[in-house]
Amino acid sequence: MDLKALDQAYIAGTYKRFPVEIVAGKGSIVTDTDGKQYIDLGSGIGVTAFGIADDVWQQAIIDQIGKVQHMSNLYYTAPCAQLAEMLCKRTGMQKVFFSNSGAEANECAIKAARKYAAEQHGADCFTIATLQNSFHGRTLTTLAATGQEQFHKLFQPLTPGFVHVPANDIDAFKAVAAETKLAALMLECVQGEGGVLPLDPAYVQAAAAFCKENGILLIADEVQTGNGRTGTLYAYEQFGIQPDLVATAKGLGGGLPLGATLFAESTAQVFGPGDHGSTFGGNPVSCAAALSILARIDEKLLADVKRKGDMVRESLEGAPGVKGVSGLGLMLGVETEKPAAEVVTACMAQGVLCLTAKQKVRLLPALNIPEDVLMRAIDVLKAACA
Ligand SMILES: *Cc1c(COP(=O)(O)O)cnc(C)c1O
Repeated sequence: MDLKALDQAYIAGTYKRFPVEIVAGKGSIVTDTDGKQYIDLGSGIGVTAFGIADDVWQQAIIDQIGKVQHMSNLYYTAPCAQLAEMLCKRTGMQKVFFSNSGAEANECAIKAARKYAAEQHGADCFTIATLQNSFHGRTLTTLAATGQEQFHKLFQPLTPGFVHVPANDIDAFKAVAAETKLAALMLECVQGEGGVLPLDPAYVQAAAAFCKENGILLIADEVQTGNGRTGTLYAYEQFGIQPDLVATAKGLGGGLPLGATLFAESTAQVFGPGDHGSTFGGNPVSCAAALSILARIDEKLLADVKRKGDMVRESLEGAPGVKGVSGLGLMLGVETEKPAAEVVTACMAQGVLCLTAKQKVRLLPALNIPEDVLMRAIDVLKAACA
C-alpha cells in the first residue's frame, strides 16, 4: 500500500490531511517525497519554534538522549529543574508543573484553580469562566472550557463547572460573577483557533482587576501565544496583567511534546504530594530541548519577531483580496476575500504552507525564519489572495 492508503486504512479518521508527505527539512524549508520544497509558515501549528531540524535544538536532544531519556518523577533529573528555574526567572512565576501537551497544561491549571478555590472559598466555589470562541483543548474538561458549541455536541456530558462569557464585555463578566461563585477566569490573550483575535487590552486589565478584588484566579492559556510567538516571552506581558496560573505548550519543546503550568506566588503552594502527576511530564529530553529553545528567545529574537510581524502586516494590509490582518508578532490571521481554504491550497501549489483559523489564513512561522524567506512566502500568499 502507498502511504496515503496505509494511513487512511489504519489511522483513526480524525484528521483531514493535505495530499503531501513531508520527509525532510531545515529551518523554514521542508521537502516532500517528490523533492518539492515549501516555505513553512505553519511550523507544525506553532511548535517548531526554531524550524525543522534546528542544529542547536538537535544537539541538546542528542546530548541528553546519550545520558538518560526518562527516569520518572520519582527521581531528580537536571533538565527538568533547570527548565523550571529558567521559566520562573524569566516570568517571575514561582513553581512549574510539567506535562506533555496544551490540554494537559490547562487541565493542571483547572485542577489547581479548583483546589485553591475550594480551600479559600468553600466547596461550592468551583466554576471557571472562559470566553466565547475560546479554545482550550480536546480532553473532556478542556472541551468543556472551550467556548465553542460545535466542539461540544457529540461528547455530552462534559465536565461541569464552566460558564462561557462574551469576550471584551466586562459587564457581562461581572454579571456572571454576581450570580455564580467563580473560582477563576481563563482566557487566551490572543484567541488562536478562534480566528487569531487579540483581546482588547482594556478589557483584559479590567477583568484582571475585578478578579483580584474578588478573589477570582486569573488563568492565562498561553499554549499558542507563549514562548515568544507574539513578540514577548508570554503574551500576557503585553496586556499588563499578572496571571495566577499560566499554561503553555506548543513551541516550548521546539517539536518535542512538552506542556508547562506556571504558578504565581498566589497559587505556588496549592499542590502537595499526590495532588497531580504525569508519567512523562518533565521528560529530560523534552526539557533539554526546551532549555535550548528558551535560552535563545532573548530580547533580540523577540524584537525580530515583532519586526517581522510588522513587515508581514505592512505587506499584506491593503493588498488585493486581503480584507485585513489580525494578531500579534508572528501569530497572524489574514482575512481574505476568497475562502481561506482556497488560498491555502493555492499557496501549497506554489510552495508555501499556511494554516487556517476559522475563516482566516493563519500564519505561525518559525520565530527565526529569515526575513527574505518570509517575504518570499508572503509574496506567494499575496498572489494567491488577489
Ligand atoms: C493548541 C491549543 C491547546 C491544546 O493543545 P494540545 O497540545 O493540542 O493539547 C490549548 N489551548 C490553546 C490556546 C491552543 O492553541
